[in-house]
Amino acid sequence: MEPDAMSVRLHLRRIRVIAVVVDLVEKLVVEVADTRRVVRCSWCGFKTTRIHDSRRLRVRDLAAHGRPTTLVWVRRRFSCGECSERSWEDHPEILVGRRTHVTRRLARQLVRDVNAMSIREVARRHDLPWHFIMALTRDWSDRVAEERRRRRCRVLLIDETSLRRGHRYVTVLINGDTGQTLGIVAHRNQAALSGFLLAQGHRWLRGVKVVVSDGSGSYRSAIAQHLGHATHVLDRFHVARWFAAGMIEVRRRIQRIAPQGSRPAFKPAIFRSRYLQLTRLDHLSDDRIEALGRVLADRPELEAAWRMLQHLYGIHLAEDSDEANQALGAFIDIWNDTPLVEFDRLVETLLEWGDEIFAFHDTDRITNGRIEGTNNRLGVLKRVAYGFLNVSNFAARALLLTPGMATSP
Ligand SMILES: [Zn+2]
Repeated sequence: MEPDAMSVRLHLRRIRVIAVVVDLVEKLVVEVADTRRVVRCSWCGFKTTRIHDSRRLRVRDLAAHGRPTTLVWVRRRFSCGECSERSWEDHPEILVGRRTHVTRRLARQLVRDVNAMSIREVARRHDLPWHFIMALTRDWSDRVAEERRRRRCRVLLIDETSLRRGHRYVTVLINGDTGQTLGIVAHRNQAALSGFLLAQGHRWLRGVKVVVSDGSGSYRSAIAQHLGHATHVLDRFHVARWFAAGMIEVRRRIQRIAPQGSRPAFKPAIFRSRYLQLTRLDHLSDDRIEALGRVLADRPELEAAWRMLQHLYGIHLAEDSDEANQALGAFIDIWNDTPLVEFDRLVETLLEWGDEIFAFHDTDRITNGRIEGTNNRLGVLKRVAYGFLNVSNFAARALLLTPGMATSP
């Protein structure tokens, strides 16, 4: 076969085919070299044409028409006439790894595949080592993360998730405006978050205007330390769970049938309507409101708890902080009249986190709408996390899952 015809088939710029080594139906091996004669010394920048020696590197390429293709790249080492240093040449189409080498276009395909399937599946499909795919994913992910962090992050979302159920917690950082994951770091303590924030640098930190987190005291300390200028908002879904906790405890006490061991153990009407009791009133149809009314009738404590919960929901449903304060006031009025012990802890929490809960009204609602998407994103991350033992491998893999892969290998 004519060398010129082969290079057309390879479609690689600056690659010259020296020989076709193997040309079988099941595989193609082609010996290639760079077309350049003159290179620049990587030490001093002077031009040189003096070849010291060369080595043959096997470079995996995209399959050509389904046929696995390997390039044998004759890689030259030049010696410089100016500084007499020697250096191996690079090629723009070839990624030289530690043991495995691939063409840039195969690397791009591998990264695309990593977005659609597991590392193991990609390794099997391309007959490449798992570690190579993982290393490529990490490199690529580092580059994507670096690029994302160069851009300003106005709204920073902080959340946590775990590798395997309840094990190896990680802190996830997301740009609330773009939905892109900025980083995933091991642990969920103050040091983990502080470490990430410090690494971003002063300018990046100044750009953050809103931080959203769950009710973790460790996160709050790190935020106060490094993002004191930003508005810290508690994630409203997290707060809603706190609100509901008081109602759930009251319901559990009231549904119980004394003495212990009696059958049934619960008053079924109260137990069966437990989700109904937690639903926001504006989400209920007339039929369901009527059903709820029957459960709450003649049960003043349950009814008081329900009314308190609805007022607490009102804090976030309010149009502004004045209205939110009215909702809080209405909650406190009922609590004064019917001081249910189950709400004591919630009142303490409200005092402790009041600023962060009410800060919701200092941020625009578009921001808060975007934040709702985070929970879904974390759900996807959790499914991917299964099978990873190593936090940084998981982080590299997970980072690519989110939108906005701007660069390519
Ligand atoms: Zn030189």
